Amino acid sequence: MKRTILYLLLFLAGWQWAAGTGLRAQNTAVTGDLSNTVPAEKWVLVIHGGAGGPPKGTMPQDIEQRFSDKLKEAMEIGAGILGKGGQSLDAVEAVIRFMEDCPLFNAGKGAVLNEEGVAELDASIMDGKTGLAGAVAGVTTIKNPVSAARAVMDKSPYVMLIGAGAEQFARRIGLEIVDPSYFITDVQLEKWKKSREEKHGTVGAVALDMHGDLAAATSTGGMMNKMQGRIGDSPVIGAGTYADNATCAVSCTGHGEFFIRNVVAYDVSALMKYKKMSLQDAAGFIILEKLKSMNASGGLIAVDKEGNITMPFNTNLMFRGFMTSEGKTEVQVY
Ligand code: ASP
Repeated sequence: MKRTILYLLLFLAGWQWAAGTGLRAQNTAVTGDLSNTVPAEKWVLVIHGGAGGPPKGTMPQDIEQRFSDKLKEAMEIGAGILGKGGQSLDAVEAVIRFMEDCPLFNAGKGAVLNEEGVAELDASIMDGKTGLAGAVAGVTTIKNPVSAARAVMDKSPYVMLIGAGAEQFARRIGLEIVDPSYFITDVQLEKWKKSREEKHGTVGAVALDMHGDLAAATSTGGMMNKMQGRIGDSPVIGAGTYADNATCAVSCTGHGEFFIRNVVAYDVSALMKYKKMSLQDAAGFIILEKLKSMNASGGLIAVDKEGNITMPFNTNLMFRGFMTSEGKTEVQVY
């Protein structure tokens, strides 16, 4: 009994001592502090759904809203990956896959048709960390061209595969293959039959992940009523897509021939690297001055290694948006 009382007294004394020295409080503080002392890991995601379009105020409100809603949904997919410490490469691929599956955009299902009435798709992806890249062009049966581009990068010694060869490769590695009619929506067929009007809606995504790695991806059906075999800038590394951890990640949209001739995506990176220009100045100069002076329509989205964002365009509109680890979310059209 005496011994029990002694233990009890010792226990109480010890507890008092611990409380007095703040040990308990300190322990609580250590747990509580962790979130404050570990720096918030930064990530940034920027996407686009194509540039061009009618002047402000002429697009039906419900259509604008549908685009905005889908852009937000796409970003949430990417944010889910980046927020868990996932790779920028996985985030941009997942975002683009979602947009390829969404018939609103000119990529994957719902893409524009070429002069033969076929959706011929182009896509590319680049890893800013390794400098590796992959692309497919002129494909008509690969459900998600961006994943074929990723596979070319990861599972082949090549950078770009086209047409039948790309499709055979995609089939061999187990990607989903569909009938060419899968991509053709009634809306696109009607547009193609009637006026063969322009459709914008190429999709792109760039991201900076918590590890400081940049990645970019772009996917498109190209230009409405294009000649069979025409390839735009979207699958051309350096033209429509580029990423380098030392500078930035870029995805372009617009009149592809100009973007190829001006090597636009790489030019943004090169101006930063060699001329020490800021991301905003480099991209702004190319889109708003250089291309504009050539009547080359389009825009781009980009993020640099610090997480700065730019989204310049010289057209009436560019569907675009961004999300960051700091909780900033924005979707813009005009
Ligand atoms: N750049 C794409 C192409 O020329 C089209 C677009 O972005 O609207 O194929």
